[in-house]
Amino acid sequence: MSEGEGAMTSTWLIRKATLPGTGRTDLLLRDGAIAQIGPQLSADGAQVLEADGLVALPGLVDLHTHLREPGREDAETIETGTRAAALGGFTAVHAMANTDPVADTAGVVEQVWRLGRTGGHCDVQPVGAVTTGLGGTRLAELGAMADSVARVRVFSDDGRCVADPLLMRRALEYVKAFDGVIAQHAQEPRLTEGAQLNEGEMSASLGLAGWPAVAEEAIIARDCLLAAHVGSALHICHVSTAGSAEIIRWAKSKGWPVTAEVTPHHLLLTDELASGYDPVFKVNPPLRTSADVVELRRALADGTIDCVATDHAPHPVEAKETEWSEAAFGMTGLETALRVVQEAMVDTGLLDWAGIADRMSIRPARIGRLAGHGIPLGAGVPANLTLYDPASPPAAVVPAGASKSRNTPFAGLELPGRVVATFLRGTPTVLDGKLA
Ligand SMILES: [Zn+2]
Repeated sequence: MSEGEGAMTSTWLIRKATLPGTGRTDLLLRDGAIAQIGPQLSADGAQVLEADGLVALPGLVDLHTHLREPGREDAETIETGTRAAALGGFTAVHAMANTDPVADTAGVVEQVWRLGRTGGHCDVQPVGAVTTGLGGTRLAELGAMADSVARVRVFSDDGRCVADPLLMRRALEYVKAFDGVIAQHAQEPRLTEGAQLNEGEMSASLGLAGWPAVAEEAIIARDCLLAAHVGSALHICHVSTAGSAEIIRWAKSKGWPVTAEVTPHHLLLTDELASGYDPVFKVNPPLRTSADVVELRRALADGTIDCVATDHAPHPVEAKETEWSEAAFGMTGLETALRVVQEAMVDTGLLDWAGIADRMSIRPARIGRLAGHGIPLGAGVPANLTLYDPASPPAAVVPAGASKSRNTPFAGLELPGRVVATFLRGTPTVLDGKLA
């Protein structure tokens, strides 16, 4: 949505919302910003939204979304993916680079950025590839993408690991000049050749090739050392093991410039779900053990892991409804993220709603160098916000949503909570749980 849409921007009075850490208050949204916050506000002609019992969060920010456009519009488009994002409470998403063509030039990132501006239900910030064609051998045009209208600051070969340590070093050195960040998909390729499922009792009993934790942890350890050596920002995508969290905790204790994310599915699900060979549970990195889940939750709670990122990975039916070993890796996640995180982190007492605002909006916006998002709600800030009902009775997740794809691992699972409304610069993208 562009700034030129002033005519569509109306004035909204949100009454009696709960602001984490502050309590119940009214919010007046006008001209794309929060004009006032305080008790018993009034405004002539404002549309009123009764928010008694609803938590007001700064609009959620996803550091890791696969929107599939250009190239795989059968799985998702920028329009359908951002619809799913808005319904999940997101006001901005980072679009991963593994599209077709790969987002490895200024031209492609500008195309994605423009599609987001014209057809997006939330802001779309393109992520640039680290290497040309995700080939892992030659640095992509990082500077040209940074200088483009998309102003790319996050670079990732996500889906693939930047396995070559020299190339990783060069990438870290290159982005330092413009405060960029390299987001690593930590997967040692040789240790995961043919891997299908977390290496452990479950993979052994199912006869599926194991995906050892060390394949993730070895790359994270190496890259933390490289980030410290270069003095440049490293972000670790989708941390999935207890050992990874421990390495990141150690790196942070040294003051090294390392940040990390965890997905909702790794906070809730385990590899035992694979027992029926249903590929809906096939994902990269794989679901791990309950001991890993406990440690990932603890690491997110204590700030070792900075944020939640969905790794929303839509796939068409034929790519998932096949034999396990043939099926694509990945799960959708935008529409369910906040509800899963409530179940895993809030209802367990590990984080309060101020903590959720920090881990799902403030910190991801900071890591993604995203202006106008992730700002604590207050007078004068852009009116990007989410109204959420945590007391909504648990309801079963239905696979059919706004995403073009149906590969949610949460289908049928009863989850608490409901996103009631999402506002992007003062304009509702979602009202009463439906697209506005
Ligand atoms: Zn990845």
